[in-house]
Amino acid sequence: MDQPSTLVHVAIPRPLHTLLSYSVTAGEIPAVGVRVAVPLGKGVSVGLVLGVEAVAADSESEFAIKPIQAVLDTEPLADAHLLALLEWAARYYHCPLGEVIFSALPAALRKAKPLSKTMQRLLKPSAPPAAIAVEPDNALQLTAPQQACLQSIQTWNAESNPRPVLLHGITGSGKTEIYLRLMTPLLAAGKQVLVIVPEIGLTPQLLTRFAHFFAEIPTVCLHSGLSDGERFKAWLRARSGQAQIIIGTRSAIFTPAPLLALIVIDEEHDASLKQQDGFRYHGRDLAIKRAQMLNIPVLLGSATPALESLYNVQTGRYRYLRLEQRPGSARPPALQVQDTRPFELQAGLTPDTLQALRNTLLRGEQAMVFLNRRGFAPALYCPSCGWQADCAHCSVKMTWHARRNRLVCHHCGAEQATPTECPSCKNPQLTTQGQGTERLELLLQNHFSGFPVVRIDRDSTSRKGELEEKLSAVRTNEPLILVGTQMLAKGHDFPNLTLVVIMDIDHALLSTDYRALERLGQLLVQVAGRAGRATKAGQVILQTSQPQHPLLQQLVGQGYTPFAKQLLEDRARWSFPPYGYHALIRASSETLEPALRLLEFIAERLKASEQVIQCLGPVPAPIEKRANRYRAQLLLGSKQRGALHAALDFLLAGGVKLRGCSGVRWSIDVDPVDFS
Ligand code: ADP
Ligand code: ZN
Ligand code: ZN
Repeated sequence: MDQPSTLVHVAIPRPLHTLLSYSVTAGEIPAVGVRVAVPLGKGVSVGLVLGVEAVAADSESEFAIKPIQAVLDTEPLADAHLLALLEWAARYYHCPLGEVIFSALPAALRKAKPLSKTMQRLLKPSAPPAAIAVEPDNALQLTAPQQACLQSIQTWNAESNPRPVLLHGITGSGKTEIYLRLMTPLLAAGKQVLVIVPEIGLTPQLLTRFAHFFAEIPTVCLHSGLSDGERFKAWLRARSGQAQIIIGTRSAIFTPAPLLALIVIDEEHDASLKQQDGFRYHGRDLAIKRAQMLNIPVLLGSATPALESLYNVQTGRYRYLRLEQRPGSARPPALQVQDTRPFELQAGLTPDTLQALRNTLLRGEQAMVFLNRRGFAPALYCPSCGWQADCAHCSVKMTWHARRNRLVCHHCGAEQATPTECPSCKNPQLTTQGQGTERLELLLQNHFSGFPVVRIDRDSTSRKGELEEKLSAVRTNEPLILVGTQMLAKGHDFPNLTLVVIMDIDHALLSTDYRALERLGQLLVQVAGRAGRATKAGQVILQTSQPQHPLLQQLVGQGYTPFAKQLLEDRARWSFPPYGYHALIRASSETLEPALRLLEFIAERLKASEQVIQCLGPVPAPIEKRANRYRAQLLLGSKQRGALHAALDFLLAGGVKLRGCSGVRWSIDVDPVDFS
């Protein structure tokens, strides 16, 4: 007589669009959510059990199905809710489930090894924290507009199916204070709150504020600076319900939190919320999905909401609140466009800008010059024969870093010594073109001797503690000039900073990427928001050779909301997101041809799906070669999300293999934001 036997269905971290099945013996049937070690090819892989099925044993399948090797965990790592979220994400992003699951779990869990005894003990459910009262006595008094916002959010969140709330408040309007107040009663009741922020390393002040306000509340912070072990411990504390506040960058959205009662996404427009390789998810969109699945509220905060979010407000999917004033006497800065064309520039700065910088320093105040390009100069060339320092591995120019006297590729990281003469014609007089932060720093030091110039970019803050050191120099409030890249754009609060100069925005104004203007608008408003944060009035100078650009005029004259409205109208005309849906299929190979050929094949297959979609391309990517690989892309668009997804499902179900395309890597990016 046949013995009934048990199969487990396992997701493994490989590019497979199906689960693998293994048999288990009666004594060791693992629960769903537990890791197992399974044979795979000639080796062993870790896997996560997603299904357990009792089957009548029949001789045929017993030959094919191998037994698992070991059950690795005593407790499920992920609960049903988290697994459901990951399954949804795998379907939506068309990414293999096993890859989704194992990129969402801490790295410590990606090996086919059992955990140490200590770690296993931490997996046991523990008692939830006791309720306490939590708001400090010396908390700020909310202003009337803040109070009104808080009250609306609380009323809405108490509804049975709360909708996401978009809090659109200018920089410095006190959004963070509202987050804190909204969290207070939830934390007091022993619940958990997840706070997603763009880049923790850049916002130490935010963390200090949370720690200060909720001194008694166990908090974990999940960011890229943690070691695997530290990250895993923090994850375990969240999973047990003991850590009540979980602050982290986009991947923190996958943290297990059994008592989760609220998700806050700060800077919800920020591009860093989108994962750009591997499992290409959007942290904000998954936050909204997770909140919806748990039926808990989600709050999105920004001074410059994403067009998608503003559109969701228009359609009624999101609620919307505005905060248009800064508390106390702080005023939003005056914006002024400075035409660079009539002037002889010094390191890219006009005489008027230099004068404004001098005046600021002489008043004993601080100024910031924002230039989103590190290094000394973005191009080195030979004026006699036209030779340029190109990267050998990418189709881009190398940036000259004067201090180290090296040429560096900002795309693949390749470095080389700076040639002393032209490699082509032996001319010893090579010339640079354009400005980077390093050159700007040097010019400003020479021009304003006696005043410190502090440069903040990736090169100048690579040593541990260096960023903090530089920021504390600025916090002395001594007159100085701050030079930096987008590391300076957000989170920082410098009370004596009254002038912001923004350089070199022309390439974004002239870009063909339909998201470039949105990003520029957001960046300008965020950077401008650094000026005049305290009692002193702020001034912002925007240098450009395109002062008449209609959208720039609109942004400066009328502010972000009309600007965003105009951009939305343009997107509607072209059925671009959020009025249509995009997926970008990228392919790369050692020469361009096979990558293009694979994409042509994919385009054919997609057409055969008979869905109403458009295929644009395939075309070489704007950066055609990067790190020795040639890159091509195929853009898919549709007015119906369903049609786009059905076409992608059709493609994957049929498999993608083509002769002559071996060595081509390809990937699907749903809702892409980067077209480079
Ligand atoms: P946002 O998050 O909108 O950029 P913040 O919450 O950081 O704004 O507030 C900006 C500054 O204003 C901070 O220094 C904060 O301490 C201060 N602030 C916020 N709310 C109040 C208030 N009600 N009274 C006094 N100061 C406040
Ligand atoms: Zn030359
Ligand atoms: Zn390169």
